[in-house]
Amino acid sequence: MLKGLIQRWRQHREQQQLARHAIPDALWELTLLRYGFLAQLSPQDRSELRRLCSLFLASKEFHGAGGFEVTDEVAVSVAAQACLPVLKLGLHWYDGFVGIVMHEGQLVVPRSEMDEDGVVHEYEDTLAGEAMAGGPLVLAWSESTPEAHERLEGFDPVYSVVIHEFAHVIDMWDAGMQGPQGAPALATPQARAAWFATLEAEWQWFCDQVDEGVATVIDPYGAEALEEFFAVATEAFFVAPMELRHEQPALYRILSAFFLQDPAAPAAPAV
Ligand SMILES: [Zn+2]
Repeated sequence: MLKGLIQRWRQHREQQQLARHAIPDALWELTLLRYGFLAQLSPQDRSELRRLCSLFLASKEFHGAGGFEVTDEVAVSVAAQACLPVLKLGLHWYDGFVGIVMHEGQLVVPRSEMDEDGVVHEYEDTLAGEAMAGGPLVLAWSESTPEAHERLEGFDPVYSVVIHEFAHVIDMWDAGMQGPQGAPALATPQARAAWFATLEAEWQWFCDQVDEGVATVIDPYGAEALEEFFAVATEAFFVAPMELRHEQPALYRILSAFFLQDPAAPAAPAV
């Protein structure tokens, strides 16, 4: 009885949120047009993505930093890219934070690090985005648009800062304050061990390519750390799936099994 009531209340609340945060047709079409990898989804997946986006917009709070105005276009662009990885997994993967801070351009963050002699080095880091355990998530709009890809002049076609940062969020879902590990939560210790065996082998191969100066589908930044490799591999999985499947098939397979998506497969015909 109570369970039924709670379920009905949840459905009612979801309907309200969907109505209140419905994405206008024109804006949705524009978003699909700008991000080709979203337009490639099957019609069913596109409508599910649109539904998730509305629920995402209902549950997250956008803030513009330094006078940056978060327009509907900005919010929907971020929501659509953010919801893609969890299309088949559910929005609860993003329950760990609420705030999304948007900057117009890249962020300059002061850092300090102590070396092994105990000397503290102060320096500035330039970031396109940052995901912290417990949030908020920080993103630079200038790096989140399709135009940002063009600026790279074909050097790196696989680029989605939004997917990158949300991959870190997924990675941190079960990590608490430990930060990202390079693995999302998996059902069993065996699954986790198998994940790391494949991921580390794929990372090793990738680092060798980067060391030798060979161009890779995945952003060379992935050589920095295993958790960064997971984030840039996730970008490639969604933005250039066929290229990734061709270049690192075993990596493609574990990502496909986790995200429950096969973006390199041709989309089902429209019904
Ligand atoms: Zn990262």
